[in-house]
Amino acid sequence: MRRVVGEDGIREAAALLCAGGIVAFPTETVYGLGADALSDTAVRRIFAAKGRPSDNPLIVHVADQEGARRLARRWSDLAERLAARFWPGPLTLVVPARPEVASAARAGLDTVGVRCPNHPLALRLLRAAALPLAAPSANRSGRPSPTTAEAVLEDLAGADGLVLDGGPSGIGVESTVVDVSTGMPVLLRPGGLGREELEAVAGPLLSVGDGAGAPRAPGMKYRHYAPTLPVRLLRLQPEAAIEMIRTHFDPADTAVLAATAVRQALTAYRGVDLGPDADSAAAGLFEGLRRLEREPGLVRIVAVWSETRGRGLAVMNRLEKAAGEGHHV
Ligand code: AMP
Ligand code: MG
Repeated sequence: MRRVVGEDGIREAAALLCAGGIVAFPTETVYGLGADALSDTAVRRIFAAKGRPSDNPLIVHVADQEGARRLARRWSDLAERLAARFWPGPLTLVVPARPEVASAARAGLDTVGVRCPNHPLALRLLRAAALPLAAPSANRSGRPSPTTAEAVLEDLAGADGLVLDGGPSGIGVESTVVDVSTGMPVLLRPGGLGREELEAVAGPLLSVGDGAGAPRAPGMKYRHYAPTLPVRLLRLQPEAAIEMIRTHFDPADTAVLAATAVRQALTAYRGVDLGPDADSAAAGLFEGLRRLEREPGLVRIVAVWSETRGRGLAVMNRLEKAAGEGHHV
């Protein structure tokens, strides 16, 4: 991959996308790896570059609600209300798909996940290419998502394409995914938009696992977000976590990834300070995991997290996946 910036970068990236190539670009959540969502050949290049299983569908990015409607076979009142309230922003809506959406992007399903990203470079790229862009996170499959162009290059340097460098992504975890393709909205993946904010507009949401009969929620089936070091997740309040770590883990081989209250009590350990709250934790999580895997002499990362409000639910979900918990094959 070659790094490009600025207006010239956008022009070159748009031309490559129109020719069926792949381009990594910044969004407000994480960096995406994009291709023409109407072309199976182009979309397959994303799967090949990432080593992603072909049954895991991609999110299609659009410049506005009009662009989303052009991909949807049906655009419900609820989709309309959610898009009006939260777009551009970190919310993906799964809706019935028109057949023009590349089958590879839908993983063969008759639905498509669509979102309008809240990032000036992403929006300019979408307008310059004048295409819907299928774009999963721009990491090797299974790895922590990239929040900088450097992290994209760490994973995908060998791939044929461009990375449009726009500096760090602000939110740091992926979008919240809601299935609104049936009468029963289902939260498929927690993310940058808090469940509470979403439910204030959509009403109570079912979760995957509530027997909602939801379509597959990718990111649930496969191991995800995992650094090369094993992660242990402690769902404990600060006092209990500090005690547990001091008792059981050696500062020589264990790093601690936790909010400031815990980190400050454990200065003997290397680690990552996730800051004071769920928003700072989301912003620093993936970069923190990537940084720790480069530290010599570590055999494990102990992560401490207990907040599930707002972005805290997404942080918990990503840490569970990084720790290898939950359903994966
Ligand atoms: P990624 O871009 O790697 O974060 O992955 C995109 C995620 O969006 C998938 O893992 C799914 O959770 C979700 N998704 C995209 N399209 C669909 C769809 N048609 N049905 C259900 N989930 C979807
Ligand atoms: Mg991903």
